[in-house]
Amino acid sequence: GWGVAVVTAVASRLALHRHHLEETLAPFRLDSEQLKAVQAEMREAMVRGLQGEDSTLPMLPTYVCATPDGTERGDFLALDLGGTNFRVLWVKVGSRSEGGVKITNQVFSIPESVTQGTGQQLFDHIVDCIVDFQKEHGLSGQTLPLGFTFSFPCKQVGLDQGILLSWTKGFKASDCEGQDVVSLLRAAIRRRQGVELNVVAIVNDTVGTMMSCGYEDPHCEVGLIVGTGTNACYMEELCNVSAVPGDKGRMCINMEWGAFGDDGLLKELCTPFDISVDKSSINPGKQRFEKLISGMYLGEIVRQILLHLTCLGVLFRGQVFQCLQTKDIFKTKFLSEIESDLQRRQVRAILEKLGLPVSCDDALMVREVCQAVSQRAAKLCGAGVAAVVEKIRENRGLEELSVAVGVDGTLYKLHPHFSDQVKDTVRHLAPRCSVRFLQSEDGSGKGAALVTAVACRLAGSTRP
Ligand code: BGC
Ligand code: MG
Repeated sequence: GWGVAVVTAVASRLALHRHHLEETLAPFRLDSEQLKAVQAEMREAMVRGLQGEDSTLPMLPTYVCATPDGTERGDFLALDLGGTNFRVLWVKVGSRSEGGVKITNQVFSIPESVTQGTGQQLFDHIVDCIVDFQKEHGLSGQTLPLGFTFSFPCKQVGLDQGILLSWTKGFKASDCEGQDVVSLLRAAIRRRQGVELNVVAIVNDTVGTMMSCGYEDPHCEVGLIVGTGTNACYMEELCNVSAVPGDKGRMCINMEWGAFGDDGLLKELCTPFDISVDKSSINPGKQRFEKLISGMYLGEIVRQILLHLTCLGVLFRGQVFQCLQTKDIFKTKFLSEIESDLQRRQVRAILEKLGLPVSCDDALMVREVCQAVSQRAAKLCGAGVAAVVEKIRENRGLEELSVAVGVDGTLYKLHPHFSDQVKDTVRHLAPRCSVRFLQSEDGSGKGAALVTAVACRLAGSTRP
């Protein structure tokens, strides 16, 4: 009778929805072969970059050759620019019995008008924040050695010189690309009279993270960030680094792996959703690997998929709500919240707050979308780490390598499964490496201070 007909109709509609969902998410489910290919391509791009050949990976020398040995002491200032916030930090590095490293920090917001204004405005703003911080903490008039964590690709020719190659992650201040960032900072210091600062080092956040974990574990020779952006650094044999003379010892190399795939190499992996996220970004065609992995983009990928499924009538009864068409409305932290939530209450709360009416099925499907997107990100990141640790193992001619990776970044730290999926992937793709992942505590701040401290130690003083 009618009842049966209705039930059958509902069942077949659900089956159709399932089918659409599966079809949409299938390209996100990377298999072992695809991941091995990414690992192999990454490895080749690393070698080309190190040899100074054409490569999407610039493999930038950092002039960090020594990890902390625990004898570093002193007071340092650190700046952290390039994540969600700008921070100024006062870092006291003492002996372990004195409590080790103590950090006082203050967060300053940088309005979009400044990140996308002129370089002069940006650096003047930075110096204003430092002056406020010094007043607030009784540091005015002291010229502490300063380490600047500047988390963008920089071509370094020394520890305190870094030419910005290109902005990433939504920054776009004019007149900075191609310039030495330390000179820009020093010029801003001069414009603000009566202020003296002693800029000793410019440090990528991956390097800061590696250093801060290296303070605890000397086997930490890789740094990884999965936050707003993504990137990695590691200790490479100097003899493999063509850009730096000398062939004894090692130097930390900032890979800038976010740019992997900018030559079209990842085309096969990119879905139509990735393509539209890239197109509507501030830097189309750039940072293609980063756009598959990091926090700035995952929410946008999810939003694109939800929009598509709604148009197919699979979600939200086919009603395309305004909010789903608003860029950046779906935050990456929602993925973490939604995937942490077994009862699906959170899913409904989040979506309803955005103004989306959710049925039970909707909630279930949205969670599956989030899982597919974050799993792909974690696996790709794992494939990258596998390429790095395998390179270190082969560099040293070892059968087995034991190494630690220092990690920072909100996505890695806050997402309920991301870190496990990275680890599983690395175990699978680099079976001869035993890899420990150490979460850094404030890698950017502490790390910049430690790089500065090591430099001062090697120069024989905390006030070079
Ligand atoms: C930048 C890197 C940085 C990474 C993580 C990327 O967009 O290019 O320099 O390490 O983000 O913050
Ligand atoms: Mg950071």
